Amino acid sequence: MSFPREGDLSSPQQQVPIFVLKEGTTESKGRQAQRNNITAAKLIAELVKSALGPRGMDKMLVSSIGDVTITNDGATILKEVDIEHPAAKMMVEVAKSVDNEVGDGTTSAVVLAGALIEKAEELISKQVHPTVIVEGYQMASEKAIEFLRDAATKLNDPAGGKDNETLLTIAQTSMASKLVSGESADLAKIVVQAVLDVAEERIDEREGETRQQQQQKKFRIDVDNIKVEKKAGGSLNDTQLIYGIVLDKEVVHGGMPKRIQGAKIALLNAPMEIEKTEMSAEIRISEPQQMQMFLEEENRMLKSMVDKVVAAGANVVLCQKGIDDIAQHYLSKAGIMAVRRIKESDMFKLAKATGARVANNIDELTASDLGSADLAEERKVETDKWVFIEGCKNPKAVSILIRGGSQRVVDEAERSVHDAIMVVKDVLEYPYVIAGGGAPEALVAARLRDWSGSLSGRTQIAAYRFAEAIETIPITLAENAGMDPLDTQVQLRARVAESLERSGQGRAEIVKAKYGINVIEGKVADVSKQNIFEPLAVKEQVINSATEAASMILRIDDVIAASKPKSEGHAGQGGMGAGGGEMGDFGE
Ligand code: ADP
Ligand code: MG
Repeated sequence: MSFPREGDLSSPQQQVPIFVLKEGTTESKGRQAQRNNITAAKLIAELVKSALGPRGMDKMLVSSIGDVTITNDGATILKEVDIEHPAAKMMVEVAKSVDNEVGDGTTSAVVLAGALIEKAEELISKQVHPTVIVEGYQMASEKAIEFLRDAATKLNDPAGGKDNETLLTIAQTSMASKLVSGESADLAKIVVQAVLDVAEERIDEREGETRQQQQQKKFRIDVDNIKVEKKAGGSLNDTQLIYGIVLDKEVVHGGMPKRIQGAKIALLNAPMEIEKTEMSAEIRISEPQQMQMFLEEENRMLKSMVDKVVAAGANVVLCQKGIDDIAQHYLSKAGIMAVRRIKESDMFKLAKATGARVANNIDELTASDLGSADLAEERKVETDKWVFIEGCKNPKAVSILIRGGSQRVVDEAERSVHDAIMVVKDVLEYPYVIAGGGAPEALVAARLRDWSGSLSGRTQIAAYRFAEAIETIPITLAENAGMDPLDTQVQLRARVAESLERSGQGRAEIVKAKYGINVIEGKVADVSKQNIFEPLAVKEQVINSATEAASMILRIDDVIAASKPKSEGHAGQGGMGAGGGEMGDFGE
């Protein structure tokens, strides 16, 4: 393609605009793009802000088909809300990534990311370039994590003795902000026990980890080994830990025993049925005896399957596939309890809990494949019949059965239990804890402000703003508890400065987080004695994820959006020339 030269009026290309982007594509550039993104991100932070902390409010979310969710969990709120704007979607990603990594701190992360962006907006309006801000933020976030580590306490024996108490506190703190806070003490016991049961002493994995991490981690926990089942009915107090697996399935045949003590369990990943051939086969029968023989042969095959199970010594059969009526009959005659069509994931858990090996072929089943449990029993849970395999010796998979007044309660309880499981896991894997109630954030902010003085040029201003953004956490906790934000800030800064002064500017001795928000009494106070503890892993993740997202959003100066297939009427607006500064209507 040849480009028109200046003054070359004869060239037809000069009049024809060059379309680089597909028709209907919209673009917003520079300031406009930035402003839109910043606004969207701030709106998302605003949305979850009032949910932060024990005095935070819950959100009632109604889906397009009318399903109601009541929650206080940042990740859940954002997951349920239908979000359009691309920058807003990135904020949702923050919550998601924090949820996946550490399980708690999702609201904090979104609030912090929003605050970072808001502070950056002020700087941008004062002509500080976003790149400089991002650089300052990056440096400040690294420093912040250093200060956090100073303020944290190491647990020497996280799984035992006195530190066990700390695990309970950690679990309880994570549930303090939820609907279930009233029952958090009992739930915490269940959660800690469950996590300790499935914890495995860590096998060394040397690659890709720093030496420091290797020395710190002692356990490996696969939270999938904790099966959380829920059923509305009863009350939260009826929630129980089961040393085994709860199956939301019933015993397959009415004649089978409903309760077997000293269960010897066979796990089958093979049908107890005569498999139909892939091709349609035709059998010609000319005499009634042949029909009889045919049926008898089927019968014989099914009986021989049951005989294998009996020979192996099993009295409970848990089958991933189907069980034929005739096989059911023979099983029940042999006094064997059977459940069919169990989920594959449950089969894995059953194997871990009972010590059984899953047999892929009935012919291979032997006594050594069987697992054991004190009790296998079908019980009525509200209107359903569920099978409980419980009392497993040293189970590496356990269940938590959540009960509660209504479906919404058990749903939110399940989310809170998930958070609690995750924080206990966090601490076992990275045994450092830190005070809650906004105290670490207040301390880190003060030390960051101090430190930012050592930076040169405009990064200094950015780092200073980072410190202010971190302070948003205690301030928001206070605001949600009905305190005045400005008074709180002034008081908090004074108290923290005092404590830093006393400890020699944080140089002579390591400063522990102390002053934060006592949300119950609604005042700035020494919260270190209040038994509010959180995993250091959560705090670190909050800072990392929030900084990352804020930086990413701030770096964008061009949003190019492909036309949406359903909406029309944008035709002609596309193209490089047409977009500049003209849009910003991404679902605002
Ligand atoms: P997130 O999704 O970020 O975990 P939460 O709503 O669970 O949000 O609130 C967490 C914040 O609440 C943390 O900063 C934590 O320290 C604080 N918090 C928890 N319990 C208390 C308490 N009893 N007093 C003061 N602050 C608390
Ligand atoms: Mg929380």
